[in-house]
Amino acid sequence: MSGTIIPNTPIAVDFWQIKKCNHVHLFFLSHMHSDHTAGLSPKWNRPIYCSPLTAKILQLRLQVNGRWIHPLEEGVPHMLKLDNIRKETMTVTLIDANHCPGSVMFLFEGYFGTILYTGDFRYTPDMLKHPALNNRKTIDVLYLDNTNCNPDRALPSRQEATRQIVDLIRRHPEHDVMIGLYSLGKETLLRDLAVEFQTCIRVSPKRLELINLLKLKDVFILEETASSVCAVERRRRFYAVDQSEINYNSVIKWNNFYPTIAILPTGREAEKCNKNAYVIPYSDHSSFQELGKFVAALTPSSIVPIVKSYMCETYFKQHLSSPRTTLSNVTIPESVRTFMRERNRRQTVSRCFQRTTIQRVPRGVVFEPLEESFTRPMSAGTQTVNKSETLFLSQKNHLAPSSKDSALLPKKKKKNRYSTGLFK
Ligand SMILES: [Zn+2]
Repeated sequence: MSGTIIPNTPIAVDFWQIKKCNHVHLFFLSHMHSDHTAGLSPKWNRPIYCSPLTAKILQLRLQVNGRWIHPLEEGVPHMLKLDNIRKETMTVTLIDANHCPGSVMFLFEGYFGTILYTGDFRYTPDMLKHPALNNRKTIDVLYLDNTNCNPDRALPSRQEATRQIVDLIRRHPEHDVMIGLYSLGKETLLRDLAVEFQTCIRVSPKRLELINLLKLKDVFILEETASSVCAVERRRRFYAVDQSEINYNSVIKWNNFYPTIAILPTGREAEKCNKNAYVIPYSDHSSFQELGKFVAALTPSSIVPIVKSYMCETYFKQHLSSPRTTLSNVTIPESVRTFMRERNRRQTVSRCFQRTTIQRVPRGVVFEPLEESFTRPMSAGTQTVNKSETLFLSQKNHLAPSSKDSALLPKKKKKNRYSTGLFK
């Protein structure tokens, strides 16, 4: 399970075990894979900050109450308060993580220095051109997706992996194709295959519901109605199925009915379960070589692995800037310390809300007056945040008041739909 409480701050990312983090007031969600959402449920009652697309998927899949979900526009700094007396603030900037729809990295800047939390990400050189990262800002702590941080494992680019899959399918022209996927991610691969083979991809109703939300439905079609729309005569079919369905028994069963190959596009090590099953190293996580390029460009002062069981900093020591900084040495401002000691969140939210005259400010967060421009010294240089823009965006994106967004809520609550493992 992924997730981190940032030491000496009231911040947590992808961490939802509330009993272990009473001092946390600001919860950030990087993306909607189940190993990053374990603990979230319709009963959740703390503010969550995430990308606009993740906000929609979060409501659709886990039925978290929209009043707690605060979508933040990507690419611009947002100011959030860190105490109850409007003294200490921080900014957060969301950067596309190139991992799955809605996935982002978080750049936090505040009394603790500058922290980049990558979440799950697949490196591209364009990331380094992002205004938040290309201004030679000193990254004090880099929380790094080290899923593939192994110098002995080479991974092809996603384009190269797609080419391998296309070649494999071409070698089996009479076969149906089953592609095993998580519930979210690799939609681009499916679309590329549909275009390459001039076909459509058959999906389950649940996957189609998500695809409709992502506005990708042009090459996807529901399993039950596919035959009437996609082909007049029986011809090879392409299916997107859950990754767990790619197993020995399923492949045997499919081949008893029609010649079928099963493809598992994954960067993880997996065994070939049947002669008609193939594992292709298509990964949504950065390869070891890509991690090296990313770290070399950012030259952070320290690296913390997000997958805690794997080390990674030692591989990139030559790229670290000095002196080495760690969050354990951070001095917490007194007002923030008081904020973190506050246990009764409902009272805190109520008091914050009364202090502001703006009625639609997200609960638990107080912004400065609209007219002012906010300037705060950074560890390297100075950055200006236009408060009126930040507040407007936050209000506009806040899901709770929108009748359009509330339509995403299911009419009937389904039992146990949010249990761990449902949404990978
Ligand atoms: Zn992920």
